[in-house]
Amino acid sequence: MGAKPTAKRIRYRREGVGRQAALGIELERLYGSVLSGVGALEIEPAFLDLDHTPGRVARMLRDELLSSYQNGALEQLVSAFTCFPAEGKQEMVVVGDIPFYSLCAHHIIPFFGYVYIGYIPKELIAGLSKLPRAVDYFSRKLQVQERLTSEIADFLEKVLKPRAVCVHIEARHLCMEARGIRKPGTKTMTTALRGEAFEAEIRDEFYRLIGK
Ligand code: ZN
Repeated sequence: MGAKPTAKRIRYRREGVGRQAALGIELERLYGSVLSGVGALEIEPAFLDLDHTPGRVARMLRDELLSSYQNGALEQLVSAFTCFPAEGKQEMVVVGDIPFYSLCAHHIIPFFGYVYIGYIPKELIAGLSKLPRAVDYFSRKLQVQERLTSEIADFLEKVLKPRAVCVHIEARHLCMEARGIRKPGTKTMTTALRGEAFEAEIRDEFYRLIGK
């Protein structure tokens, strides 16, 4: 123990979303699935540049769009989530316009947009770059916007134990634009509040700071 800590690593128990991260993704199996998916379309590969598509898609899913299913992804987020002791009276910290890209769990096509995070610290403040890291982790898997919003809020509540957390997401869903109801440019907005954020004064301050 000894000297007062200047930075603190956070413990975050594997539960809920943590269990998904333990699954990992096997490239070979993923490759086989994409290959048979492409095969099912019965398109002549030579004419359509499909030769290397299954491998390319499998790597893209494993390493980028669904990388949070990799073994150890959650542990990596948690161990990189440096926090510092908060000093004095704490006001709201806001980080906004954090871009994200995710895959809709219902249609497996992208939804994407911006995340806005506000919190009022109690004993800990997060390194500012850590909030976009959390957004990356929770968006790089099959998601629905409502769950993405609440998973980010729950995570921050757990690791920072703040007075209040507000998470707001504005996103466009290709499953509503390119197919289905086909309404290009439609925005979906979701909010998750935790702790004292249910108090109108705190919530209003958050919306004022993010300009919404
Ligand atoms: Zn969808």
